Amino acid sequence: MANAKQYCEELFQRVTERNAHEPEFHQAVKEVLESLVPVLEKRPEYISLGIMERIVEPERQIIFRVPWVDDTGKVRVNRGFRIQFNSAIGPYKGGIRFHPSVNVGILKFLGFEQTFKNSLTGLPIGGGKGGSDFDPKGKSDGEVMRFCQSFMTELYRHIGQDIDVPAGDIGVGGREVGYMFGQFKRIKNAYEAGVLTGKGLTFGGSLVRTQATGYGLVYFLDEMLKDKGMAIAGKTVLVSGSGNVSIYATEKVQQMGGKVVAVSDSNGYVYDAEGIKLDTVKRIKEIERGRISEYVKAHPKAEYHEGCSGIWTIKCDIALPCATQNEIDENSAKILVKNGCQAVAEGANMPTTLEGTKVFLDSGVLFGPAKAANAGGVATSALEMSQNSMRLSWTFEEVDAKLKNIMINIFKNSSKAAEDYGLKGNLVAGANMAGFLKVAEAMKAQGLV
Ligand code: NDP
Repeated sequence: MANAKQYCEELFQRVTERNAHEPEFHQAVKEVLESLVPVLEKRPEYISLGIMERIVEPERQIIFRVPWVDDTGKVRVNRGFRIQFNSAIGPYKGGIRFHPSVNVGILKFLGFEQTFKNSLTGLPIGGGKGGSDFDPKGKSDGEVMRFCQSFMTELYRHIGQDIDVPAGDIGVGGREVGYMFGQFKRIKNAYEAGVLTGKGLTFGGSLVRTQATGYGLVYFLDEMLKDKGMAIAGKTVLVSGSGNVSIYATEKVQQMGGKVVAVSDSNGYVYDAEGIKLDTVKRIKEIERGRISEYVKAHPKAEYHEGCSGIWTIKCDIALPCATQNEIDENSAKILVKNGCQAVAEGANMPTTLEGTKVFLDSGVLFGPAKAANAGGVATSALEMSQNSMRLSWTFEEVDAKLKNIMINIFKNSSKAAEDYGLKGNLVAGANMAGFLKVAEAMKAQGLV
């Protein structure tokens, strides 16, 4: 049999040929395959049992039409997707993204990554992802509701609390989850609270779920820094995006004594040398659904700049990319390193390109990859599912303590896996290995399915 490295290269070649025009999916698979070579050298049965061939192929891909009527009475048609990637360790679990850029390749990258991330949480959840090319920006509440209802009218037949449990992601927050849950309940005539997570607190949602990805990211960052005798207090921090992950990462950094000086959206970024006033960001983004450029109206000393990648040119100690995939390329990574950035933790999914990641690892910057660092959101979703099954609600403090503990364990398990395979300190490899091993063992035990 070919050696593990050659096997992975050939498999990657087949993946690119079979999944043409899906660059984000190729990128995610490449990173994982490269870091699993040392594991496959020790465990060749994962090759002979076809675990690798199967783990890069979604179990099921669903694509459907989503027709709806806008406020002017015009019929609109979007495309809906659900990628059920891997159910070896639990029901498919992963968010729904509404963004014009959504296509099957982006959702396959997200579902693939989700499989390893969910395994890393230590909770029994498989990997999936879904969404639509619908753009909620500029749409009325009525339009968003009609779209969500139409989307769920097809999706409902593919999901369930023991089958597939969607949640939010870009463009899908509490409002959208509420509309989708309402439609699911109506069609099924059953109150199956565990079918969606990220629900409102009045109908089965969990305390801390809103904050979980951002808070979890900062708990992970804190572990990474503490391991090197460093702390968040007193550090200057950049946080890209100004959505769910970004807002609550900023909140936790500020609670821990760090100073966030910049946030962004897809149009540009705001720099506030005195520190970002989070109440203003929450008002603009969570209530008014406006643009981050409006921040300077409330704080004239702050600066607004067009173009979102400019945020990485600001001098900082810590960078937290929390907007979208591939927002830090090789050039931005080099600028961050040159400006003295000491740590990067990924709040968004795959926000750093492969070349950018290499710059950070080669420069000795502490680097927390998304699979590990942003797993707090899905982990708290799984805690929401547990509460729904028990018909109980835990307090904020209880859920927060569980989240923190999960993030500490993810850091420890990723660090240990990297060390076990001779790659001490490389959390990219460590997270891939630790996440993979549990899924691979379950697939091995369950036979060829
Ligand atoms: P939101 O929709 O709440 O916020 C997204 C933010 O990123 C907005 O500020 C948005 O700006 C910006 N953004 C989106 N697309 C782009 C783009 N193409 N270029 C530049 N900026 C962009 O999403 P979330 O905060 O929920 O998600 C952010 C990231 O975190 C995603 O990668 C998501 O997959 C990941 N994630 C989210 C989890 C969650 O629990 N929500 C869990 C784990 C990961 P604008 O308003 O202009 O569009």
